[in-house]
Amino acid sequence: MREVHVEEITKTVRDLFIDANINLGEDVLRALEQALEVEESPIGKEILKELIENARVAREEEMPICQDTGLAVVFLELGQEVHLVGGDLTEAINEGVRQGYKEGYLRKSACHPFTRKNTGDNTPAIIHTEIVPGDRIKIIAVPKGGGAENMSRVVMLTPAAGLEGVKEFVVQRVKESGANPCPPIVVGVGIGGTLEQAALIAKKALLRPLGSKNPDPEAAAIEEDLLERINKLGIGPQGYGGRVTALAVHVNMVPCHIASLPVAVNIQCHAHRHKEKVI
Ligand code: SF4
Repeated sequence: MREVHVEEITKTVRDLFIDANINLGEDVLRALEQALEVEESPIGKEILKELIENARVAREEEMPICQDTGLAVVFLELGQEVHLVGGDLTEAINEGVRQGYKEGYLRKSACHPFTRKNTGDNTPAIIHTEIVPGDRIKIIAVPKGGGAENMSRVVMLTPAAGLEGVKEFVVQRVKESGANPCPPIVVGVGIGGTLEQAALIAKKALLRPLGSKNPDPEAAAIEEDLLERINKLGIGPQGYGGRVTALAVHVNMVPCHIASLPVAVNIQCHAHRHKEKVI
C-alpha cells in the first residue's frame, strides 16, 4: 500500500481550481482559433477574437476567465492500493476548494436552494469517486458555471425513439438554449445507463480533450453528425449568429435497460475549464 496524506489532496485541489479558473486549456484555445478560421459572420469573428483575447488577459493578469467561477466539481480516480492517512477525504477536498476560492479570489457561487444564502466558501464540492487499479490518485477539478449547466437536461426516451430520437433531442436542446450557455459551447452527451449514469457520463464526456477522436467508431459517427447539425442552427458565438455554435460534441455510450433509452445533454460554455493532476 502507498500512503498518501490527505493534506496533499487539499493542496492539489486548491491549486487545480485556481489554475483551471485562470488558464484556459491549450485544446480549448486551439479550438477557438480554428473556429475563428471557419466563422463567416463578422460579429461572430469579432466575438471569437474577444474570447481569445480574454483568455490571454486572464492568463497574463492571473484573473479568472469568467466572473462565474462555478460550482466545484471534482472527479477522483482513487487507486485501490492507496492508503489515505491524516484525515477525512471528503473534508480534505472541501478544504482544498475553500482555500482555492479564498486565496484565488474566485467568486463563491454555492448557496441554499431556497433561501439562496451563500455557503460562503463554495463548498460543498460535488465529488465523483471511482476506485481504479494501482497506487495513484488522479484529481480532476472542473469549475462548472451556472449558465451552461442550467441548459443541460436528462430525458428517458422510449427505445422506439432510436438513434434519430436521440439526435433530435440533443439538437433541440441546443436550439432552445440559444445564447444562454455562452456559445461556442461544448456538448457532452451521455446515452444509456440509468438516469443518473447518463448525466454522469455526459459530464465526463466534456473532459475529453477537444480535437481528440472518440475511440468508439459508433459514438464518433454520432458526434460528427450532431456537430454538423448543431452548427447549422446559426446561433453562433454568444448567440449573435454564425457558423460556430459548438466547438465539439462528445458522446459516451453505455448499455441500458431493455425498456429505456436515457439521454443526457451536459452543456459547457466557451470557458471550458478543467485541470487535472496525478499524485
Ligand atoms: S456560462 Fe460559462 S462563460 Fe457564461 S457566465 Fe457562466 S461560466 Fe461564464
